[in-house]
This record gives sequence, C-alpha cells and structure tokens, in this order.
Amino acid sequence: MSARVEGVEIDTRHWIGGRRIDSADRFQSISPIDETPIAALARGGAAEVDLAVAAADRAFKGWSRTSREERARLLHKIADLVEARVESLAVVETRDNGSLLRSHRRGVMPRVAMNFRFFADWLLQLEHPDFEVRNHRNHVSWDPSGVAAIITPWNAPLMLGTWRIAPALAAGCTVVYKPPEWAPLTASLLADITAEAGLPEGVFNVVQGIGREAGAALASHPKIRRLSFTGSVATAKLIAASASQNLVPLSFELGGKSPYLVFADADLDLAVNTAVGQYDNAGQVCLAGTRLLVEASIRDRFLEAFMAKARAVRQGDPRDETTDIGPQISRPHFERVDGYVRRALDAGLKPALGGGPNKELGGLYYRPTLFVDPPPGSEILREEVFGPVLCLQSFRDEAEAIAMANDTDYGLAAIIMTGDETRAERVTSQVSAGLVWNNCFFVRDLRQAFGGNGKSGIGREGGTWSFDFYCDVKNSVFAPNGWRKHG
Ligand code: NAD
Repeated sequence: MSARVEGVEIDTRHWIGGRRIDSADRFQSISPIDETPIAALARGGAAEVDLAVAAADRAFKGWSRTSREERARLLHKIADLVEARVESLAVVETRDNGSLLRSHRRGVMPRVAMNFRFFADWLLQLEHPDFEVRNHRNHVSWDPSGVAAIITPWNAPLMLGTWRIAPALAAGCTVVYKPPEWAPLTASLLADITAEAGLPEGVFNVVQGIGREAGAALASHPKIRRLSFTGSVATAKLIAASASQNLVPLSFELGGKSPYLVFADADLDLAVNTAVGQYDNAGQVCLAGTRLLVEASIRDRFLEAFMAKARAVRQGDPRDETTDIGPQISRPHFERVDGYVRRALDAGLKPALGGGPNKELGGLYYRPTLFVDPPPGSEILREEVFGPVLCLQSFRDEAEAIAMANDTDYGLAAIIMTGDETRAERVTSQVSAGLVWNNCFFVRDLRQAFGGNGKSGIGREGGTWSFDFYCDVKNSVFAPNGWRKHG
C-alpha cells in the first residue's frame, strides 16, 4: 500500500522487523494546506505494537553489542541519505504538516541529518577517563538499556522524531517509533532510509496509528525499557500513568507558555522583530514566547511598532517562498485554537490584532492574534494555545517582570531583551526555564541540555544527557590486586 505525495512514492504500511506490514484498518493523512486527503495509512493497534516491540527486543542483543564505531558509521550513513533527500523530505513534510517549505529545505531537514551526525560523534567521545577510588580503578560505562519507545508530535515531525531516535540508536537501544497521526509520512521515508543505510532489521521500527490506540499500546507495553515522549501535558499524564505500571524511565518534552521580556533599555527594533517571529510556524512552536511582557515606559512605542510589523506578516500557502506563516495543522486543532480565542472574546477581551480565522484564505488559516492586558489568571494567559495567539502585558520594574515571567505552570523557555548585560545575567538567574535566550531566540545546539521545568517536561536531552537517559549507566570498580598472572 502506498501513496504518491508531491511526486514522492511513500509506503504507508508499518515498518516492523525490516518488513512492511499492513493492518486491516486505515487512517487518513489530510493536508493542512487545502484539507485534502493525501494518503491512507495502516492503522496499528496493540497487535502491531506487540510485533514491533518483539522485533526490537530480538534485535537488541546484536545491536547493543555492535561496536560504537559501527553504530556511528551507520548513523552517519543515515545522515548522508537524509542530506541527499532533503528536497523530497521537505516537499512531503510541507504537504503533510503545512510548515514552510523554505524552512524545511534550509533548516529543518539539514537539522534532521545533524541529529544523526551529532549523536554518532558524541558516542565516540563519550567515555570519561577512569578515576581512582582508594587505589581501585573506577570505570563508568553507558550500557544500552533495551527497547526505547518514542512518541512525538506533528509540529516538526521528522526533526522532533529523530531528535529522540538518533540518540537512542547511538546509545545502542533499539527503537519502536509511533509518529504523529496528523503528519505521519516522513517517518515512513525515514524507515526506507534506515534500511538503505544498512541498519539491521528490527533495530528501527515504525508503527503508524492513532495516539489513543497505537500510542497507548506502546506506552503501556511491558517490554519497553525507555519511554520518550514529546507532546501535550494532557497526553503526558495518561502516558505517565501507564508507564508507572512497568516503572519505565520517562523523558518528557511538553508544552510552554514562555515569557518574552522587553526592558526599556532594549534595542527596540530587535525586540519587535523577534517578538513578531513568535508567530512562526503559525504559532505551533513549543518554545514560543507567547507572553510579551513589556516595561510600562515603552509599552506604547513597542505596541505600535509590533502592530506595524505583525500586520505585514504574509500568510498563505507554505510552499510559496514569500509566505511567512501557513495554516494550522488540522481542523480539530484549528477549532481548539479558535475556542481559546472565542472564550477570550466572550469574556470581553478585544483583540488588538486578528482574533479569528483568515476569511480571505479560508481553510485552516488563522489570523495572527494579539490580546493586550488580559486579566491576570485568565485562560488565554495561562494555557498553551499552540496557535498564532500572543498576549501583551506591561510591568513597572525588574522584580515585577520576573514575578510575572514565573507566574506560570510551565518553564520551557524565556526570552529577555535588554541592553544591560548585568541585568540579563541577573534576570536569567531568576527566571524558571530550561532555556533562556538573551537578545536572541532559537539559538540551538545539540550540546545544550534541552528540556523544561514544571509542566514543560521531565528530564533533559542533548549531549551526554541523552545517553544518560537511554543507557543503564554502570559504575565498575577494579581492585589493585587479586589478579592471577597469565602467560
Ligand atoms: P499530543 O499529546 O496530542 O500528541 C503527541 C503524540 O502523542 C502523538 O504522536 C499522538 O499520537 C500521541 N498520543 C496521543 N494520545 C496518546 C495516548 N493516549 N497514549 C500515547 N500516545 C498518545 O500533542 P500534540 O497536540 O500532537 O502536540 C502539541 C504539543 O506538543 C504542545 O503541547 C507542544 O508544546 C508540545 N511540544 C513540545 C515540544 C518540546 O520539545 N518541549 C516540542 C514540540 C511540541
């Protein structure tokens, strides 16, 4: 069973134990660009998950004993193939999830390749030198733990998936991957790539399907040894409950409601341009600074400049080079975003910008929206909308700015705009967030610890943090004597 999307042939069955396997049931992938169905996929459930976990479990012995050099070589080969196919991966991803084609071509797909290269290289330099403990030699090793279950969302499907898959494979785990049902297609292309790269059968498996079916079966499977989830808080709670039955270590990367602080001494152009950038990917970015907190003395100037810039944001077909933001991912998500905005309007808030669907474009296009001074505690201020909806509030001084920034259940990122470096250091040390950007946004590197505080997640990944998660870290002590002489 296959589909042809933007001229690319895609097998829409599962990838289990090195073979394509079908299911009796189907689900449709619908393109957010024009809401047309573009592919019918195998709809897996507990039976397919069982097969995939069994295949991964069988493959584990061989893969975990494969030399680091060989694992790294295969991951580099996967990266080579991703790089050779950036164009086809990019056009399929854009058709499937509605994010900008130019971003997929120039940023996202190269980053997918980088996910594999980085963890391949990190694996080879992982060992810390042995140290001495009372004359004994102490050794730390990162031993592969077993089958890793990986479940990720649709807002950057292949990038977010491989950010978890690559370190798991590098660590010597085998993987069962459940891609997002709203953008499942590039996962299947990745399966082809891993096969072509020569990854042994069963090392990487893909079970296509719906979250509450295939996802739930995977999260509660007794044979998985690690569970890596990126998605919403609501789903994380369900997954944590089922994983608790098997005491499986979890890595959670969840939502955010990040503060974007603008102090009066900031470079106003930089602050405004970067703030408008929070609408990127139609607001479907976990890290987005959706709460603009602006010092009262520059509030009006900031707002005026922001509105001028934001009005110039071009919304349209994400395949068009001149488009800045595309559609929402799906009809249910569009309705969810609209629900937040409608409830805010019903509560008496007036949008300074947008406030509803883009009627000219129709479909799933939602207008960039700004609410100014929502009442403290209101839903639109507290909950992650995950659409192009920002709120603006003002503060009087630094202490109030920090208190407002931290007045959230989340703690994924914080953005600080100030001309005063000492203030930047001071505020950085007091905001609760896994990532803080000063006078910049989205400066990412895979050596960084990535993750959130509070409801934004559990654990960190990146660099050695990823290996700490996917491995059973072992400490071994070797005595100075008691050894028989050989030879
Ligand atoms: P979601 O939780 O609905 O779905 C995410 C994944 O979980 C999908 O693959 C889905 O099929 C699966 N799933 C759904 N129900 C399940 C269940 N009962 N059991 C097992 N799996 C299940 O999230 P979403 O709406 O697709 O994604 C948006 C969320 O992801 C936002 O909250 C966003 O902030 C977050 N996100 C976080 C990061 C990060 O790195 N922190 C990155 C991207 C997105």
